[in-house]
Amino acid sequence: MTVRLLFDRTVRASLIRFHARATHRLESGGLLLGYRKGSDLHVVDATFPSRWDRATRTMFHRSAIDHRRKAFKAWRTSSGTIDWIGEWHTHPGGTARPSSIDLRSWATITIRRRAPMVFMILDDQGQYLGLQTDRTLRQFNRVLEESVTAILFGLST
Ligand SMILES: [Zn+2]
Repeated sequence: MTVRLLFDRTVRASLIRFHARATHRLESGGLLLGYRKGSDLHVVDATFPSRWDRATRTMFHRSAIDHRRKAFKAWRTSSGTIDWIGEWHTHPGGTARPSSIDLRSWATITIRRRAPMVFMILDDQGQYLGLQTDRTLRQFNRVLEESVTAILFGLST
């Protein structure tokens, strides 16, 4: 399956900026919101940690309340075209590789959503971007095109 991921630069920049802030040394995360166009995905927005979230150095408990509320609001104001298409979280001081907990949770989320989902990890050096389809995880590690507003990623071959 050919799947491409278009990632808006403003969203990517705010995630990187969020992670770079010294006060966010705890693992944290949120939802990725965007469009599905055929099998392609387009990230146009993200949710950020709220006061309902609890974080530790190695664990992030995302409270459903605020993130789901924002996702639903985006879905409603876009007439149902912007949806929850993925999740992001940070690995402060670690590497941007999915842990065994990440792999299990990504598979569970994707099976429940019944649609391919994008998963992003940010570490101090870079980012990991993956596509989970049923039980298969593949990495978006090829940049196909870049523009002022967005980056188009392709899956590893
Ligand atoms: Zn993780």
